[in-house]
Amino acid sequence: MGEFRQAKWEEPPIFELGAKGRIGCEVPEVEEEVREEVGDIYSLLPPRMIRDKPPNLPEVSEVEVIRHYLRLSQMSYGVDLGPQPLGSCTMKYNPKVAEEVAWDRRVTNLHPLQREEFVQGILKALYELGLWLCEIMGLHKVSFQPAAGAHGELTGALIIRAYHRDKGEERDEMIIPDSAHGTNPASAAMAGFKVVRVPTDEEGQVDIEALKAAVSSRTAGMMLTNPNTLGVFERRILKITAIVHEVGGLMYYDGANINGILGLVRPGDMGFDIVHLNIHKTFSSPHGGGGPGACALCVRRELADYLPIPVVEYDKLRGSYFLNYSIPKSIGRVRAFHGNVVPLLRAYVYLLSLGPQGLVKVAKLSVLNTNYFMAKVKRIKGLEVPYGPQIPRKHEVVISAGKLKRETGVTAEDLAKYLLDRGLHSPTIYFPGIVEEAMMFEFTETETKENIDKYVKALEEAVRLAYRDPSALKSAPSNTAIRRLDLVRANKWDTFAPNYRKYLERVKRRA
Ligand SMILES: *Cc1c(COP(=O)(O)O)cnc(C)c1O
Repeated sequence: MGEFRQAKWEEPPIFELGAKGRIGCEVPEVEEEVREEVGDIYSLLPPRMIRDKPPNLPEVSEVEVIRHYLRLSQMSYGVDLGPQPLGSCTMKYNPKVAEEVAWDRRVTNLHPLQREEFVQGILKALYELGLWLCEIMGLHKVSFQPAAGAHGELTGALIIRAYHRDKGEERDEMIIPDSAHGTNPASAAMAGFKVVRVPTDEEGQVDIEALKAAVSSRTAGMMLTNPNTLGVFERRILKITAIVHEVGGLMYYDGANINGILGLVRPGDMGFDIVHLNIHKTFSSPHGGGGPGACALCVRRELADYLPIPVVEYDKLRGSYFLNYSIPKSIGRVRAFHGNVVPLLRAYVYLLSLGPQGLVKVAKLSVLNTNYFMAKVKRIKGLEVPYGPQIPRKHEVVISAGKLKRETGVTAEDLAKYLLDRGLHSPTIYFPGIVEEAMMFEFTETETKENIDKYVKALEEAVRLAYRDPSALKSAPSNTAIRRLDLVRANKWDTFAPNYRKYLERVKRRA
């Protein structure tokens, strides 16, 4: 991989390109005979409703449209361009064979309202994908209704609520470790639960004594991810699930990133009752601007009656697949139709092409890659691996730049921006919140040793520069199309509002 420099040109919005009357494709003139035969049909439209000006759309030629979007694409960084070790995001290469199938006309021309007998192929693919994912997770039944990970969490939390209500129990507390992904407490709260936090011990794992103190007859369940967001496998997972089950709670597994355990261990065997999988992460679909995502929500047999409708089923007698809408205690629908089918189909192709052995290889290689990276980074003075640096990580590792910040003033954000200048994608920063100046790296199975070495070298040089000339890092990035953004302002509506207002005015002026 050579040095990559992001294209840096100024590209205005497409509304500011082109000129009045310029067009991309010509509509042919109508023959006089046709006009005469039909007569004036427009007089049928109420005059009040006929617009006096044509719609306000960009007027650009075909070549201008192509150049505009090609330029935008060159200002963007993606996994097809270089490594993207964004922790908790699993940015692996998406094999193109899955694209071929997902964009086949026989797929894209399907409509969700088609009759079941005409769509047996896609129903079969969804049914089999569900079976395989349940087999990999060690659970029994699946729903593809939720649109992505966080939506799966909400759906799972609603199932937990329905399950307890059905048993006549009022349980209003959801236990969540302090290292959890922010969507976990948010989803639990949206489903009406009070969030009870449990701390992480010095080895990066759930503090068992604190968990024991937290559970009670109010406990509806616990949301956990294992390996957790520090990349550490919870050694006492069987104990954890037993503690929650003993008080009548359910175990929810955040399976957004399961690269580290694919085909090796199963959440069902750990004692989990519900798992959501981010199809777009582990099972390979472009995401992060390339959406949409998809979710598989796998549950234990006892919870199958609460799944959202419809669920794809197989009728053995008829030998055909169908959508089952009559699930006795279903929580109802959580979105329109049957889930995001294109990413699901990609996952189907991905699993078919990997096979069981390939799946195990994915897990082993991604874990090796991340531990190789960790071993190298541990030698960089100024960076630290908090929470048991001697414990091997799974798919990801969290590094702290806390010491570096205290000694030089250079922050995790500064390092991330410097990496952009080197043509590398930054890690995830400031998550999880329990690590000071956190930088979270995830090198997936599709990354090469050369790329990991190159990444480590860039990081090493950044840290060396921090000790020599910290101001050089404060001014990074300078090679990118957009320089440093104000992270707070970039997330606030007040920032967008003036630009949005300006945009609306521009549209109005043109109308
Ligand atoms: C990405 C992620 C989620 C949220 O998934 P979305 O598909 O973005 O909604 C939840 N938990 C973890 C650990 C994640 O990495």
